Parts: sequence; structure tokens; C-alpha cells
Amino acid sequence: MAVVERKRIVNEQSYSYGATKSSIRELAAYAAARKAEIGPEKVFDFSLGNPSIPAPDEVREAIERALTLPSTQLHGYTPAAGLPDVRAAIAASLNRRFGEGSATADGLYLSCGAAACLSICLHALLNPGDEVIVIAPYFPEYRVWIETAGAVCVEVPANERTFEPDVDAVAAAITGRTRALIVNSPNNPTGAVYSADTLARLAAVIEPCGIVLIADEPYRELAYGAEVPWIPALYARTLVCYSYSKSLSLPGERIGWVLVPPAFPESARMVSALAGAGRKLGFVCAPALFQRVVAECLDVPANVAAYEENLKALTAILDENGFTYIMPRGAFYLWIRTLEPDADAFSKRARALELMLVASDSFGVPGWVRAGTCVSRDTIDRSAPAWAALAQSYR
Ligand code: PLP
Repeated sequence: MAVVERKRIVNEQSYSYGATKSSIRELAAYAAARKAEIGPEKVFDFSLGNPSIPAPDEVREAIERALTLPSTQLHGYTPAAGLPDVRAAIAASLNRRFGEGSATADGLYLSCGAAACLSICLHALLNPGDEVIVIAPYFPEYRVWIETAGAVCVEVPANERTFEPDVDAVAAAITGRTRALIVNSPNNPTGAVYSADTLARLAAVIEPCGIVLIADEPYRELAYGAEVPWIPALYARTLVCYSYSKSLSLPGERIGWVLVPPAFPESARMVSALAGAGRKLGFVCAPALFQRVVAECLDVPANVAAYEENLKALTAILDENGFTYIMPRGAFYLWIRTLEPDADAFSKRARALELMLVASDSFGVPGWVRAGTCVSRDTIDRSAPAWAALAQSYR
């Protein structure tokens, strides 16, 4: 009896998500413990996607300006979807960048980063038993958010050469229950940037089935010379999830938005469903201070050059030691082939050399590890002997 009651007191699904940390978080926690134990300079922590570049000066200036507002205004609730003038400024910026008619203030719903935006989209769309396609390798939290919305996460392997979606494989995975497809370009973990051609072919396959494409775009501004297509121009039934976590280095401030583009079929109904999902999940309004701050920083460029420098430095070390990797066209990760089939075993061997690399299994594929290039240059330079020792240990 006592056992039964102990079980009933918590929701089993929530308990298991809480009791089993994501492998990224687990490795980051291990790295933090090692840094405390042996000194931070002896640990080469490539585990997290936490930007290593400081937020631009414009952010601080906007915060200082916002602090002059009366406290009740500055810290008060905003409308659930966000401040009207902030949404208008974001819509105007999108229309300047992607063409008139790309966005309206009414089609924007501000929330707590891409994480909350994706959860809101999924809850706005899904009914129990629906299916959502993800392209593997994929950001592991997608599965948590899809399952929490009562749906089934269907993994479809990416094209193994380009890491773009394999359109034929997506077509084969569609069933009568498929409601949505999540794409993430620039991609975490592979750095792939999906071409307009691939996206148009994907659109042609999902359009007849009325599938909603959810474009998860926290890395949109972090592309190394590649053009990142504006997906709603290729497929009307697209919801865009954006975040300032990476582009403005503000991951802890929890600010981003969902856009229902004006061309989305029955867009007003979709906007209401997003508002309802936000309400269901308890997201009353996005952080008020940072709504104001990002509205003043919309044209501030991301510091792509700094991440590109890191990428050059790390790939030089990998080249010297004979590692194979996918050259990223965006985001700030390197997707590296493991030197044995078991990615977890490889990651553990790297860990013994204080090299923290996330095994690919939690991204839904075997045989790779992810190294974040959003670390200090010093970490990369100091890690060279550990990479050499790792390669050497397999010879
Ligand atoms: N989607 C992807 C692909 C990510 O890599 C991340 C964070 O690393 C998120 C969503 C969540 O980002 P946010 O901080 O905006 O919630």
C-alpha cells in the first residue's frame, strides 16, 4: 500500500524526466565537478551550448535605458503574447529582412526562449497519439517536449553525407497521424544549413498531408557564409521558433518568440491556439525587461567571426590527429566521428583524458560525438594534448 501511494504522489513521466538527466547536462555536471576538483584549466569542457562570447554592449545600454522606467511599468506583467510595441518592432525587422508580408505583430507570441516556444507550438497543434517527425541526429529535448504533449516522436535519419533531411525517408515515415515536422537549421549538432532546394522538396512532400513544419531557429544568425533560407517563403504552413539565447548570448534571460506567418492557413486560429497553449502551460508573459532589451537590439549582428576562429583552431587540432568530422556551415558545434562504434565508450575514454564530448546516442544516432565550439580559445588550445592522447589510445 505504502509503495502504491509513493508512486501515485508524482506523475511518473515527469519523475522519469527529472530523475534521468539529459546526457548533455550530466556531462556538464561531471565537468563542473572535475573543474572544482582538479582546477578549471585542466578540464576541456566541450559539453554545453552556452555562448562563450559576451553579450554585445548594446544589450547593456538597452538594460540601462530600461532601468529608468518606473518600476511598476518595468517589472509589471505584459500582455500574454508580449508588449505590442516590441512585437511591432520584431515584425518590422522581419519584414525588412525577409520581405514585406513576412510577419505581423499579431502573429508573434513572445516566450521563454526556443524551448518554451517549441513546447507551446507542440501543445497548440497536437492531440494524443499524433506523430511528430524529427530529423536524426536531433536536439534531445524535442523528444521530451513531443511526448509531454502526448504525441509520438518519429525519428527519420538525415542524409548521411550532407546531414540535410532525407526527403524520401521523410515521405516514407508519414502516416495518417503525422501532424508536424521539426527542422533545425543551422543544425545542432551537425552544423548543417538546409538548402532552399531541400526545403522546397520537403515542402512538396508534406504539403498534401497538411503537416505543419516547425522551424527551430535559435542559430539563424550563426552561419559561416551560408545563406539560411526563410522557410515560410517556401512553405506557408510553417511556425518559426526563434530565440536570442545564441545570437545575443542571452541564454539565461529566456527570451524568444513564435511566429505564425500571415500566409499560414487560418492564421488567426493558430495564433489563438498558441495563446491557449501558453495559458495551459502557465507562460503568462515573457520576461518584461528582456522583451524591451531585445526590441532595441534587433539589428545588432551576432559575433560569428569569433566562433569561426574557434572552429578553425579546433579543426586544426583534429586534422593533426586524424579525426574525421563534418565541417559545419552554422551553429557552434563540431560533429566528430568516434574511433570505435560505441559513442558512449568513446566519450568515456575522452572523459578519462578530461575531454568532455557528448555521445551521439542521445541525439538519436550511433558513432559520433558533439564538441561545442562555444568555449574559450584558451580551452581549445590547452586541449590539444588530450586530443592527441585520445587518438593515440586507438592506434
Ligand atoms: N533548439 C535547439 C536546437 C537548441 O540547441 C537549443 C538550445 O541549445 C534550444 C532549442 C533551446 O534554446 P533556448 O535557450 O532558446 O530555449
